[in-house]
Amino acid sequence: MNARPPLRPLDAALADLLGRAAPLEGTETVSTFEADGRVLAADLVSALQVPPQDNSAMDGYAVRRAEIADEGVPLPVSQRIPAGSAAQPLQPGTAARIFTGAPVPAGADAIVMQEDTEAAGDGVVRILRVPDAGQWIRRSGEDVARGAVVLQKGERLAPSGCGLAASIGLEQLAVARRPRVALFSTGDELVMPGTVPPEQMRPGAIYNSNRFFLRQLLARCGCQVTDLGIVPDRLDATVAALRQAADGHDLILTSGGVSVGEEDHIKPALQQLGTLDLWNIAMKPGKPFAHGRIGTAHFIGLPGNPVSSFVTFLLLVRPFLLHLQGATRLQPAAVPLPAHFDWKRPDKRREFLRVRRNGHGGLDLYPNQSSGVLTSTVWADGLVDNPAGQAIAQGDTVRFLPLAELLA
Ligand code: AMP
Ligand code: MG
Repeated sequence: MNARPPLRPLDAALADLLGRAAPLEGTETVSTFEADGRVLAADLVSALQVPPQDNSAMDGYAVRRAEIADEGVPLPVSQRIPAGSAAQPLQPGTAARIFTGAPVPAGADAIVMQEDTEAAGDGVVRILRVPDAGQWIRRSGEDVARGAVVLQKGERLAPSGCGLAASIGLEQLAVARRPRVALFSTGDELVMPGTVPPEQMRPGAIYNSNRFFLRQLLARCGCQVTDLGIVPDRLDATVAALRQAADGHDLILTSGGVSVGEEDHIKPALQQLGTLDLWNIAMKPGKPFAHGRIGTAHFIGLPGNPVSSFVTFLLLVRPFLLHLQGATRLQPAAVPLPAHFDWKRPDKRREFLRVRRNGHGGLDLYPNQSSGVLTSTVWADGLVDNPAGQAIAQGDTVRFLPLAELLA
């Protein structure tokens, strides 16, 4: 008989998991075009002011505010300043034609937008509205000051961050190297889509769905994936697959076979090759979860049930992978939102309910919360993080974790 390990709170399990891994050594320099989703290996410090000079926020005329006492003042136009050109100092008693983004000439202290002007004969403009001092001038450095840290080491880049890096002139960025992850699925019942048509599936067979979403989730977390396919439910095959996977990978990730039944070979295989801790995590879906090591490679075993596999990936493996890359923010913040459903029979474990925001500011619940029902994860746009034993009544405020952030 194999005794089940005691239930462990999720937060303790995550802290333990993160504590077992130091961020990976080694950085990589990538083009700023390719840096989306990567974690910065160094602070980005600006060597210049952005914008570099005071410039116009409008198409219009640069003027001296003090020279326009009243509406209707005519001013000769003394120069024309398109974006990208250098400006001459503004001659007293004149206006400069100026365009959006063009440098404000020395001496000018306001821009009058062209809609507030009219032509008043050859080369003369009439100012129809008295400007406020500083109006429509974008100040040098108002976006970024020289010497400022615009993004910190450990930040994970998004397209906006890549744009900001480019705005301070960075064509390449130092980022954490990609974790190398070996992935395999266990289970003799698994069939790859495309190899057997649905009408010819033998009794008991199911298509391998975990392999698809796990591979894609790994890619979204910045990993370089080696997909080792399906490993049969035999100890020798499991040992062979794990031994191969340990070479040249930072993490071996498996799904299924992590319980302690006779058909579950992950535990004895890891005990042969390295170390393994089986955790019974107090979460639903989820529960069986394993961390171990083979040489320098980490091992993580996920439950086989697709929804359990999906949710434990998002709540444990994703932060682990971001931590390996030195990321400082590992989890999205929960958003308080009202439940528009009842949850009368809570589990004694902390639950992650598949829900969706409705058009009335609240959350609807997917009717089937079984850990085998992958449809729920597609329908949902978030998870309600519900404390152990907590019943929910319509209108109660619950903690919503947006899937869009967990999948980023
Ligand atoms: P296990 O953890 O191996 O006992 O698997 C638990 C349940 O998840 C069983 O119903 C398996 O058939 C199912 N399962 C395991 N691996 C996969 C997979 N890769 N794709 C879809 N279902 C799976
Ligand atoms: Mg199995």
